[in-house]
Amino acid sequence: MPTADERSLASSVPDPVLAIVRRLASVGRRAWVVGGCVRDVLLARREGAAAASRNDWDLATDARPEEVMRAFPRVIPTGLRHGTVTVLDGGVAYEVTTLRGDVSYSDGRRPDAVRFVDDLVEDLARRDFTVNAMAWDPIGGRLVDPFGGVADLEAKLLRAVGEPAARFAEDGLRVLRAARFVATLELELEERTAQAIEPSLASYRKVSAERIRDEWMKTMKARRPSRAFEVMRAHGLLEATAPELLDAVGCEQNRHHAWDVWTHTLACVDACPPEAVLRVAALLHDIGKPRSRELSSKTNDYTFHDHERIGAEIAGPLLERLRFSNDERGRVVALVRHHLVCYDERWTDAAVRRWVRRVGTELLPELYTLVRADVRAKGRDADDEVARVDALEARAAALLAAGAALGVADLAVNGAELVRAVGRTPGPWVGEVLRQLVEEVIEDPARNERGALLERGRALATSRA
Ligand code: ATP
Ligand code: MG
Repeated sequence: MPTADERSLASSVPDPVLAIVRRLASVGRRAWVVGGCVRDVLLARREGAAAASRNDWDLATDARPEEVMRAFPRVIPTGLRHGTVTVLDGGVAYEVTTLRGDVSYSDGRRPDAVRFVDDLVEDLARRDFTVNAMAWDPIGGRLVDPFGGVADLEAKLLRAVGEPAARFAEDGLRVLRAARFVATLELELEERTAQAIEPSLASYRKVSAERIRDEWMKTMKARRPSRAFEVMRAHGLLEATAPELLDAVGCEQNRHHAWDVWTHTLACVDACPPEAVLRVAALLHDIGKPRSRELSSKTNDYTFHDHERIGAEIAGPLLERLRFSNDERGRVVALVRHHLVCYDERWTDAAVRRWVRRVGTELLPELYTLVRADVRAKGRDADDEVARVDALEARAAALLAAGAALGVADLAVNGAELVRAVGRTPGPWVGEVLRQLVEEVIEDPARNERGALLERGRALATSRA
């Protein structure tokens, strides 16, 4: 009798995967579905959800890479040295990897050599966590679970396969994967697995910045990434990677907040939609607070003057160190820089236009989302503040829709026209005059009219000469 898990697996595996397994069987080889895809089907069943449709169905086989290459018409030798062949079917790629045994990791990063084996259980034994060390045999209809992955899923535990300290020491990335899976799979760290993290930090410190960044980005897809960052804080990963964040822990806030800066920061990350860059900005948005905090004798409460500017200065180098792209870093730094919005309805239209110009129109959608998450993450009723963000967004949108000019490109004259009207050789004065015209148009949009601008431009150019 198949178990409920086996029935779920049988109905989830897509036909092309089944066809790959059958094709290998026809040349006398066995193949299994392994790793994250098996785990996710079993998790989805427990959550009563339909398994998220995924494209990365990974297969393990006792066929050697050359045999796999010969068995299929369309293949890519993705990582032959590591035993991985990509089989293409209907535009979808399936990774078929030859069973591998345990190998030595003398550098704590990459296995020294690859050793192909015939035994599935040996292959599963080198995998990181029990929930990732299960295989599904679609022909026999049998789930292979030698390390108790199903029991751990039932108990909601993330447990290392084998001796946790040894497994973490051989590959430093695993402790960070542990933090990520605590968030994405919503599991708890099994106790011995948790205790093995700190003794493995030397190995973790050898992990490249790019791989850490990639794990952070994957973590941000979780419903609550805070679960991972709390593990990273508690077990020393954050101290090794982003110590700048630790000053937030226990940093008391002003009386509008229920929580310290760290708790608020994590609540803000969780309150953002699952977009990685936005959530990284949430993680860093108050990173300048501990450094700017002062106790006001007048109000007997804390102030955080300039924390958004200081925060942007701290965030930039941190993201550079973690090898975020220039675009990602620029967006996050700008979001941190502008996250403090002191809008109230007494702002004039000109003030709203100045604010929009300072922030930049491209950043507005992400900024509104971040600011809403920020005010919701105070642990206090935030309806009034959310309503204020809504009001600012509506006013800015209306002004933009009315054609508000916010930059030189929006002016009703261009540089060449200005040069002709003034009758002087082009030089730095052109840009200076155009920028001054923008200032004046932001104050009064009625001035964005060709004749008036040229006349005013002539006057400005003359006074500059
Ligand atoms: P995701 O849903 O993020 O793809 P995954 O579990 O599939 O999660 P992958 O990085 O795609 O993760 O790896 C596939 C499988 O390979 C894992 O399930 C695990 O069995 C094994 N694995 C991956 N990385 C490691 C590692 N660093 N150490 C040991 N086993 C690993
Ligand atoms: Mg995967």
